[in-house]
Amino acid sequence: MKVQLLRQCCDLSVNPDPLDFCERETPVAGLGELLLQVVACGVCHTELDEIEGRTPPPVFPVIPGHQVVGKVVAVGADVSRFQFGDRVGVAWIYSACGRCAFCKGGLENLCPEFRGTGRDADGGYAEYMVVHENFAHPIPEALTDIQTAPLLCAGAIGYRSLQLTGLENGRILGLTGFGGSGHLVLQMVRHRYPDSPVFVFARSVRQQELARELGAAWAGASGEQPPELLDAVIDTTPAWKPVVDALEVLRPGGRLVINAIRKEDRDQEQLLELEYSRHLWMEKEIKSAANVCRSDVREFLEIAAEINMEPLVECYPLAEANRALHDLKVGDVRGAKVLTMVA
Ligand SMILES: [Zn+2]
Ligand SMILES: [Zn+2]
Repeated sequence: MKVQLLRQCCDLSVNPDPLDFCERETPVAGLGELLLQVVACGVCHTELDEIEGRTPPPVFPVIPGHQVVGKVVAVGADVSRFQFGDRVGVAWIYSACGRCAFCKGGLENLCPEFRGTGRDADGGYAEYMVVHENFAHPIPEALTDIQTAPLLCAGAIGYRSLQLTGLENGRILGLTGFGGSGHLVLQMVRHRYPDSPVFVFARSVRQQELARELGAAWAGASGEQPPELLDAVIDTTPAWKPVVDALEVLRPGGRLVINAIRKEDRDQEQLLELEYSRHLWMEKEIKSAANVCRSDVREFLEIAAEINMEPLVECYPLAEANRALHDLKVGDVRGAKVLTMVA
């Protein structure tokens, strides 16, 4: 099978072609596992974090990709939930132990043995992949393959982040960053909290325009003063400064949810800018959204199907994964990037 392989971490500004497009043996479905023929796989900012070493894979080489839409083409022994021909999705959660207190308490995203698809196990930048049936998700009929791919990460973690904000209808939500996740969260908020104005902080004028087109009540640059203070903010940027800026425009008692595995190092010195009186006093809260649970993925897919959520998508052939990553890195993303496989 053809795959895009990451052999080592590297600096993308020095090496613009981090992935090696090559042939590998097609994997075999083991006990309880499914062999999927990959149809589409979303490209996520986390792949940049893996490649540049902010969340490095423990073992090389590895096939990245954790927003996988595939067709079941073989099943291992003891598979009972899926059969040949089923269409399934694989998200960031590749596996969790199922035995620890977190797993038992509905927080498998915090499991110490949590494994991320495409980092701790081979993912979907390939023609085939294997996954345990318990970590494969049925895809509602109403959603197309391409439409579903970005929903599996950006959408699912966006859904988790939105839940973590504790937003109530009518309260003001801010979004810092307006890439793959932001524009899905905006659509979800319009549906679930129709009376909540959404203010978007985005770096480019193009992203700000897109936010307004999709229903944002206000859009501006990070650091700009919004018309009102915010009850909650979801941060999806790779940088630190928007975090500090967001805390400053939170209402008393407001909550900031940070949705990022790591923040890029070059912003490290700006940690110093966090001032207790300006940024935290008055019971402001900061919470991170870590990974996803299977329930996040499944519930979100149902909502997406219900409101026919249409992510803006830009497609690239599997062979051009490096170009997709480059385009993601340089920014000004109009929607989500998806690799498509031609069998
Ligand atoms: Zn992701
Ligand atoms: Zn566990």
